[in-house]
Amino acid sequence: MRFNHETLGQRVRFASGQARESLAAELDLLGSARAMLIAGTEERELAERVTAGLPVVVHHDEVVMHVPTDVARRAREVATEHQVDVIVSVGGGSTTGLAKAVALTSGIPIVAVPTTYAGSEATNVWGMTESAKKTTGVDDRVLPRTVIYDASLMLSLPQHLSIASGLNALAHCVDSMWAPRADPINAALAVEGIRALNLGLPAILDDPSGLDGREQALYGAYLAAVAFASAGSGLHHKICHVLGGMFDLPHAQTHAVVLPHVLAFNVPAAPEAAERIASAFGSATAVAGLATLRDRIDAPTALRDYGMPEDGIEQAARAVVEAAPKDNPTDVTVENITTLLQAAWEGAEPR
Ligand code: NAD
Repeated sequence: MRFNHETLGQRVRFASGQARESLAAELDLLGSARAMLIAGTEERELAERVTAGLPVVVHHDEVVMHVPTDVARRAREVATEHQVDVIVSVGGGSTTGLAKAVALTSGIPIVAVPTTYAGSEATNVWGMTESAKKTTGVDDRVLPRTVIYDASLMLSLPQHLSIASGLNALAHCVDSMWAPRADPINAALAVEGIRALNLGLPAILDDPSGLDGREQALYGAYLAAVAFASAGSGLHHKICHVLGGMFDLPHAQTHAVVLPHVLAFNVPAAPEAAERIASAFGSATAVAGLATLRDRIDAPTALRDYGMPEDGIEQAARAVVEAAPKDNPTDVTVENITTLLQAAWEGAEPR
């Protein structure tokens, strides 16, 4: 066994119903007296509950998916104007993404309070969009100093978003098994992440007001994001990045639809990963394990349902082949990626 692995430094406070207390302790530890709260209008009620009585000097609520550069600029101006010493983000990946855009140029530490399973809070990856082109980068200044997980904040996330976002987390795990910097440590995290998400997601549906399933899913989502941050983007993430950028598709749902197709595409050439994914699902094969979970939770199936045009498939396939990792287990060609995207577009069985 031979590998180089880097672990990112970050504190995690995980306690259901305790987000406010966890945040208070964290701001205390950081000596914060002038926090900036970033939370979109839809998360206002949650955010006010989490920050009640804490030293927040400004609440910024202009949150837009994929962080347009002008939205980032306005948030940076607010941070400067109010001389903030900590950024508190309460929301999903879009909210964390805006906090990262402010931290990228200011170095102000972030305390992230996630309300979806996207996992941006555990990565040092930032993303911004200008003129419909998304740029991403890696910078340790954007890694939140602390993550506060509270499963009770997930109760208001609509079921269909819980499922799509949870499958986005599962995709981090699966892709980490063959991404460019895959190693035994992030594989171990990914396998435990799959086990937890496979347990948690059906439980969210079975018990709409319960915390147990949400705790498992959040725990799995964190492991997924740590694995992904370490392993980098594999074929699955490259495909979703191309599709999201070209056709402005919703992030979590795109991941949810594409995942079974990439799994079926890669497992014949990655037997060890396939065996470990299968055992994490408690299933005979990786493909069957994912299919069983997807049936159980009524997962999204077709890209056409989210607005992807069929005549965009060939152009997307060419861009995917350009972007695909060179050492992907199965060789990538315009023909086989076109077949994969056609099946994902139609909602056909993965081939
Ligand atoms: P999102 O943050 O846009 O949230 C989706 C919707 O859910 C929004 O309408 C939001 O208001 C609502 N919502 C969120 N939490 C809620 C709650 N608890 N209750 C009710 N409604 C709630 O979507 P997302 O999928 O979390 O994040 C997607 C973005 O994150 C994309 O831009 C993606 O590129 C980015 N991302 C980045 C990384 C990274 O490492 N940098 C990782 C994952 C995702």
